[in-house]
Amino acid sequence: MMILKQHTGWIEVICGSMFSGKTEELIRRLRRAAIARQKVEIFKPKIDNRYSDTEIVSHDAQKVKSRTVQRAEEILEYALEAQVVGIDEAQFFGDSLVPICQKLANMGKRVIIAGLDQDYRGRPFEPIPQLLAIAEFITKTHAICVICGNPANHTYRTSTDKGTVVVGAADKYEARCRNCFVPPQEDDNQDEDIT
Ligand SMILES: [Zn+2]
Repeated sequence: MMILKQHTGWIEVICGSMFSGKTEELIRRLRRAAIARQKVEIFKPKIDNRYSDTEIVSHDAQKVKSRTVQRAEEILEYALEAQVVGIDEAQFFGDSLVPICQKLANMGKRVIIAGLDQDYRGRPFEPIPQLLAIAEFITKTHAICVICGNPANHTYRTSTDKGTVVVGAADKYEARCRNCFVPPQEDDNQDEDIT
């Protein structure tokens, strides 16, 4: 990590497939900031009710206290005093997250965003691609393909649920590499979200 001038904000994006350690990496960075007595605020979207309502929990059960918000706009309200702002599962906030992250960084805050960069079809998952474009620092995390053991860049949905947003973990998804990932056959071209 480069050392930047004081009072300059910036955006970091941690992205990759499910089971690639995005949340662990987010928690690691936020903990380091907290140890340095920086004021940290952590947010996650309401949609993600896995495991805990008040904490960010990665799949290996590390946790930190977080605030669950419905809309990206609420992050701005609660993050005013923070020096470091963490946002987990950012793909669920929608496009309004982009100007909010810009605003927070322009206010001099360090903004650390973790999220899925592709959906279960292997398509870019907005707003992460836009956030990658405006971020100062990007970390792409990889899982390990459950089929062959290669680095996995894709999230394969093992359940038959339809829609881009279907919340689940190992019960519904697995990490797959480029060779082993097969985009799902859609019998209809439906794009509506199940939330
Ligand atoms: Zn594979």
